[in-house]
Amino acid sequence: MDIQMTFPLDHDGFLRRECPHCVRQFKWHHGPASQEAEQQSAPAAYHCPLCGQPAAMGSWWTQKQLDYAQGITVPAAVREIEQELRDGFRTASSKHVSFEFKGGFDTPEVPTPLTEPDDMTIVASPCHSYEPVKVPEDTSGPYHCLVCGQAFAV
Ligand SMILES: [Zn+2]
Ligand SMILES: [Zn+2]
Repeated sequence: MDIQMTFPLDHDGFLRRECPHCVRQFKWHHGPASQEAEQQSAPAAYHCPLCGQPAAMGSWWTQKQLDYAQGITVPAAVREIEQELRDGFRTASSKHVSFEFKGGFDTPEVPTPLTEPDDMTIVASPCHSYEPVKVPEDTSGPYHCLVCGQAFAV
């Protein structure tokens, strides 16, 4: 099954993320933010800028992103299963007995693509300034470096 899924970035190229520990949202830059960032190998874990807890790269999806992913995946899976059933019934039919596959599954609607507002404020840690993050305007820090978790004030 080949499913195309893209998540929107804001105009500065940031992707919305949700911390699995404190469940607050921030954004990190999608892809290398600079030439210096390009030369660094991607760390195994990132640290939440708001609470400093580390988590693996794949555990930062927001609930909206997960819902969207499921909304894309489920209809595609249903269509695939339905097609397989139809093919199965066709081959099961013979001269004397015929099976017919009537009706169909209720295919859920594909969700409308997510949009990303240009909210939040860019902050960069002094130790790993090539990995800037965006934090909600109503927070005041100290923040934690995405790469190493070091606390810093802005
Ligand atoms: Zn957190
Ligand atoms: Zn750092």
